[in-house]
This record gives sequence, C-alpha cells and structure tokens, in this order.
Amino acid sequence: MASKAHNFSAGPGILPAEVLKAASDACLDFDNLQLSLLEISHRSKNFEAVMDEARDLVKQLLGLGDGWQVLYLGGGASLQFAMVPANLLRTNGTAAYVNTGVWATKAIKEAKLVGNVNVIASSEDKNFAYIPKGYDIPRDADYLHITSNNTIFGTQMKAFPKSDIPVVVDMSSDIFSRPIDGNQFSLIYAGAQKNMGPAGTTMVAVREDVLGKTGRKNFSMLDYQVQIKGGSMYNTPPVFPVYVCMLTLRWLIKNGGLSWIEKVNNEKAALMYGEIDRNSLFQGTVLDSADRSMMNACFVMTKPELEPEFDKLWKEAGISGIRGHRDVGGYRASLYNALPLESVKVLVETMQHFEQKFA
Ligand SMILES: *Cc1c(COP(=O)(O)O)cnc(C)c1O
Repeated sequence: MASKAHNFSAGPGILPAEVLKAASDACLDFDNLQLSLLEISHRSKNFEAVMDEARDLVKQLLGLGDGWQVLYLGGGASLQFAMVPANLLRTNGTAAYVNTGVWATKAIKEAKLVGNVNVIASSEDKNFAYIPKGYDIPRDADYLHITSNNTIFGTQMKAFPKSDIPVVVDMSSDIFSRPIDGNQFSLIYAGAQKNMGPAGTTMVAVREDVLGKTGRKNFSMLDYQVQIKGGSMYNTPPVFPVYVCMLTLRWLIKNGGLSWIEKVNNEKAALMYGEIDRNSLFQGTVLDSADRSMMNACFVMTKPELEPEFDKLWKEAGISGIRGHRDVGGYRASLYNALPLESVKVLVETMQHFEQKFA
C-alpha cells in the first residue's frame, strides 16, 4: 500500500489499514464465494453471519445484557434525531434535552416536530465551549437526550448524568473510544463514520422495554420495533458499511478492546493537548480542560495572520484534515481510534517547527 497521509479528519474519519485491506478484498471475493460482498443477497447465510456478528460485537463491547437489541440503520445519526422522539416521546409527553452543540441543537429541532421539548441545560451562551453540569432532570420526562462528545466544539462528557428516566445518548464521535457501562442508558446511537466504520450506517442499541409506549402510529422504516422484528433487515441493510463496522470491531477486540483503546487515546490526547498548551502560537478553545474531548482537539492560533504559513507546513508534513469546522474556525485534530500515535507526533513536531520559525 502507498504511504498514507496523517488523517485527522473529523468524519468520515480514519479506519485501520488492515480493515481497509480486508474490506477491499471482500469487494472482489467474499468468503471464497467467487462473488463480491456487494453482489450477494443480504438474506444469504454468509451475510446474515456478518450482521449477527456486527450486532453481537456491539453488545460485547458495551456490556449490554438481555433486553437490548442492536440495529444497523440507514439515514445517518441525523435520522435518529427524528426516530428517537418518534419512538419514545408520548403524545402530550415531554422530552428533556441537554444542548451542547450543533448536533444536539438539530436533535432538539426534530423532537419539537414530534412533541414537547424541555431544554434543561445548554452551553450555547459561550458558543458551546463547555459541558453544562449540575442540572436537575425532570422525573416526569419521557427521556433525557445527551450528546457524549461534541465533534464540532471539542467537548466531551467525562461523566454521564445519573437519571431515573431513560437516557438516550448520541455517541457518534466517541463510541468505543473508552470503556463504558452501556446499561446506564436506554438507547445509544452512533453514525458509523466517525469511529466505527464508513458512512452509510448508524448503530442503534436500544432496550426493548422503552418501546411501544407513544400511543401513536409510526412509519415502518422509522419504527424500532419493526426494525428489531426484521433483525435489522426489514429492508436491504447497508451491507458494505455493516461489514466494515464488523471488521473494525473485530480489530478493536483483537487488540485488547476498550481498555486498550482508552490507553492509546489518552496517550494521543495528552500529547496533543500538551503541545497546544505549551506552544505560544496556539491555544485551546474549550474553557475547562476537564471538558476537553479525547477525540476532537480544537485549537486556534494566537496570531491568526500566520495561518497560511502553518497551513503550508502541515500540508508539507503529509497531514490532512485539521481545519476546524466552519462554525468555530481554527483547527481541529480528530484523534479517532484508528489514528496512530505516530501521526500525533508528526503534528506536534510540525507545531514545534512552526513556533521555532515564527514565534
Ligand atoms: C456527525 C455527527 C452527527 C451526524 O451524523 P450523520 O451520520 O451525518 O447524520 C450527529 N451527532 C454527532 C455527535 C456527530 O458527530
């Protein structure tokens, strides 16, 4: 394989090289069937085995017990912004939301189309540069919706709210980045393309006992119970993305699982934030360092007029994808599971080199 760029893209993000290789092989000949994975029936026993394993690995990694179902759906995490209220928000009920960024804001917008929404905490007052804490969760709400990691603003919940009501979490950008007990939640969803696979599928893990209570009818495709009954194959599932997710989760488990990846991710984040804090030409954008994301390190330049010079340097170093989101500006280094420590070292050295030249 040709040498690869140091890929800090926020999403779709980097995948392990061996996963890309195995996925390419399956496109040419899957399971020695002399057929491509892309041209077999999703009802074949070969693909059913893939779907079963991809679902089981999620349960295994998140420690999910009986009563949980795992789905791989189309429509992106953004469709879950609608499916969650469509399946959990009762007619005349209220849903509680914590607004920690652009994605949470979009989730709130969709929920309002379905029913009553109570935004119980928000960090919008400071452009989402912190994680709100110490808010009360209404006991009579149908569910609480949180976003574990705010991809755009580089903040992350290090502890999850304790709640008597079902908690729904959008984990799109930090799923499988650290050990968590999934059983504290009632529904976990994640668009695959940040940290578990390619774009095209969204993993949804849901406790069955929270379903079927809205008192409304729902479109079949948007109904978790229909999707569960169909074994995540009510219609043709995203065959290739599900396969790549399965390969990525196998890779994770083979290397030591979530406690292994947490160590790797902590090491990468410590190196990255250490340099952001040390280097006189850069500063972090998150207000409290305790809220800093281990996945998306956001930073700006103390002398923004030097940005073109820095951009030249990192491109020459083979670095890709560190421009910040257009809502925040500056830079964002995404440190997803598959990003090697070596890539962070190259970025840090480039920042040091830049400081020597221009400070
Ligand atoms: C990227 C992202 C989304 C949107 O994902 P799509 O699959 O593009 O719809 C939602 N939530 C979070 C936290 C994200 O990072």
